[in-house]
Amino acid sequence: MIGRPLQSSGVGFTSQRVRDRLVERLKAQGIRNPNVLRAIGSVPRHLFVDEVLASRAYEDSALPIGFGQTISQPWVVARMTELILDADVAPKRVLEIGTGSGYQAAILAALGIEVHTVERIGDLLRTARKRFRSLGIALRSKHDDGHIGWAEEGPFDAIMVTAGAEAIVEGLIDQLAPGGTLVAPVGGGATQALVRIRKQMDGSLDIKEMEPVLFVPLLPGVVDR
Ligand code: SAH
Repeated sequence: MIGRPLQSSGVGFTSQRVRDRLVERLKAQGIRNPNVLRAIGSVPRHLFVDEVLASRAYEDSALPIGFGQTISQPWVVARMTELILDADVAPKRVLEIGTGSGYQAAILAALGIEVHTVERIGDLLRTARKRFRSLGIALRSKHDDGHIGWAEEGPFDAIMVTAGAEAIVEGLIDQLAPGGTLVAPVGGGATQALVRIRKQMDGSLDIKEMEPVLFVPLLPGVVDR
């Protein structure tokens, strides 16, 4: 259950009307899943960025969240979420690598998914946890290097990597349940593509390259601050 937005009506730049306009825009850009659109319409994205950026929270763009990181563009969040929902079995337990602002995790939680999220920058994770608490969002998070995933809590029905790497982190595929879906931006530097991997019931992998995207890099190790 998502807490009430600070401003749920009216003409402010954080109003429900502004959020609905973002939903319309995502629809026009090909996002079809009604549950995903509903989740985007219900989660107050302006509470996941610094106050000075709140007026831009419902634009379809990535925004800085400090430490050289960004909150992903709403279209990307919607598309990745749609890709994991578009499986034969609806995902119940999901692992996200790269909590960042916490927005993607909040979207998953709004869909009734059991979310596990990992972030390497301590300060970002602390801020995200405060947001989860104040919005009444229940999920599991840990401060760690996402390259190792979260084996004790696996296997997961879906894994979402929200930082770019040259290749899929193989160890994460081991934490994917049969029938599960992994989505990740793959490719070094300026050219990345969203890759969707489906683990078949027999363990074989079905790999499909989707749209071009641009994410901050998946980095090794943890940052304590
Ligand atoms: N899902 C986030 C997007 C954050 S940007 C959101 O909705 O806001 C990518 C995030 O991945 C950054 O916060 C970055 O610190 C984190 N990250 C990068 N490499 C990581 C790693 N190895 N393990 C965990 N998090 C990582």
